[in-house]
Amino acid sequence: MNIRNIAIIAHVDHGKTTLVDQLIKKSGTLEAHEELAERAMDSNALERERGITILAKNTAIHYKDYKINIMDTPGHADFGGEVERIMHMVDGVLLVVDAYEGTMPQTRFVLKKALAAHVKPIVVINKVDRPVVRIQEVMDEVLELFMELGADDNQLDFPTVFVSALNGTSSLDPDISTQVPNMDCLFDMIINEIPAPAVDVEGGLQLQPALLDYNDYVGRIGIGRIQRGSIKVNENVVCLRADGSKTQFRVQKLFSYLGMHRFEVEEASAGDIVAVAGLADIGVGETICEPSCEEALPLLHVDEPTIQMI
Ligand code: GDP
Repeated sequence: MNIRNIAIIAHVDHGKTTLVDQLIKKSGTLEAHEELAERAMDSNALERERGITILAKNTAIHYKDYKINIMDTPGHADFGGEVERIMHMVDGVLLVVDAYEGTMPQTRFVLKKALAAHVKPIVVINKVDRPVVRIQEVMDEVLELFMELGADDNQLDFPTVFVSALNGTSSLDPDISTQVPNMDCLFDMIINEIPAPAVDVEGGLQLQPALLDYNDYVGRIGIGRIQRGSIKVNENVVCLRADGSKTQFRVQKLFSYLGMHRFEVEEASAGDIVAVAGLADIGVGETICEPSCEEALPLLHVDEPTIQMI
């Protein structure tokens, strides 16, 4: 499967949630995978029954032959460590900027982390349908911010798309009359401009959780990109711990994403972002690997324990 992993970053209210909803809708992800979507909803209903709150922070959409994993990013400075770890899982970011408001403090904060991680940005100027917009000024502000924050040459060469997430329209041209009623130019941009994950499909499993999640039923869940090989439910794996020790465990559950839902899968392979349950005290930055092939990935910078409640 062709995969693209991206994060979405924006100042609060600039339209991140509306854009992700629209991308799910316009890509036809849920219609095309009705059966999976139903299963995903079932598992969410089950989780609700068990009294677990669900806050889906990851989304996946299918477009053409591609699966695009979209990671949400917290905009608040208290979550700087989490943003850095998310940048380890992705190869690009969508920077969403309001066509009237322009760049704001959270735009700067999260963009700085993305640029430092050398991921490829796509600039999404949103809300072009607003009665008053400042598109040219906003584009200038964005370019200035990139330069100020030390973007590399590849990042400075960012593509820009103009959208109304609310109306589901987009264009490569800032002129509002050129908007078309779909998101294809943004989807194509993600596929063509964001590099495929640099991973190794052959070889023994390596997966480093960059985020933690928790639910009462399966306990702690590690979320990360599979760096090498593949992972299967019920297989025995080894976790190379942050303190240098190791723990064997069985992959109890494996989750993937579809639309705003998470659903169980039997297997996943290099490049994809998955959630793994089975080790009650798994930690961020440790490495899950195949017992025959123990090799730790470099430790991730961790400045605070982060548990996302689901
Ligand atoms: P988030 O905080 O970045 O997730 O922002 P939301 O997606 O919740 O959007 C914040 C507000 O902006 C909501 O009232 C949306 O309806 C509105 N909004 C989002 N996208 C657009 C757009 O393209 N045009 C207009 N006019 N409003 C939008």
